[in-house]
Amino acid sequence: MILSIKTDQNNPILRQKAKEVKEINAEIKQLALDMVKTLKANNGLGLAAPQVGQSLRLITVKPEPDKEALVLINPRIKKASRKKTIIEEGCLSLPNTFRPVERPEKITLEALDINNHPVKMKVKGLLARTIQHEIDHLDGLLIVDKKQ
Ligand code: ZN
Repeated sequence: MILSIKTDQNNPILRQKAKEVKEINAEIKQLALDMVKTLKANNGLGLAAPQVGQSLRLITVKPEPDKEALVLINPRIKKASRKKTIIEEGCLSLPNTFRPVERPEKITLEALDINNHPVKMKVKGLLARTIQHEIDHLDGLLIVDKKQ
């Protein structure tokens, strides 16, 4: 099912800290699957559960434009490079809004995959940026909240 994306930046669900996923059950798996479909349908790079009205720590990101989306549950940034870059970002929740955002260029990340297996990833460039953008959503932060 393709889900509807919350595009009102004052919607409380976009502004609150999302809860940890306690158990990766059938409901969570269905949500993840629907989010992957929704991301694809909207031609986006990443999507966080609060954007579809679920205040849960679950994100999906495209590792590369023509690759299948990854699902990351309870993602945590363990390390971030000192080197930062500033690139203009957009957001499916803020249509027609683009803002330059400064972020570390590389991150080390831990999460769970959809099968409850721990994942550790070292990522850089656009994927590192997308993951940080989606984790911001889990903390109730939008690109309009980042300091310029
Ligand atoms: Zn966004």
